[in-house]
Amino acid sequence: MKEGIHPAYYQAKVVCNCGNEFVTGSTKKDIHVEVCSKCHSFYTGQQKAAAARGRIDKFNRKYGMNADN
Ligand SMILES: [Zn+2]
Repeated sequence: MKEGIHPAYYQAKVVCNCGNEFVTGSTKKDIHVEVCSKCHSFYTGQQKAAAARGRIDKFNRKYGMNADN
């Protein structure tokens, strides 16, 4: 086994918060992501976008900003 010459390149298993799993090339073996192509609002449209807006409202309240401009 030679180590430390260059980063190992794995077929990494990516696990998303939505439960989706897929494989991609990476220097890490396991990756955990919060959004993937299956649940990202860009792909899923309005329903998830509304959920994202809820998080933004929460953020704005936390930092004392008015979320209802
Ligand atoms: Zn996902």
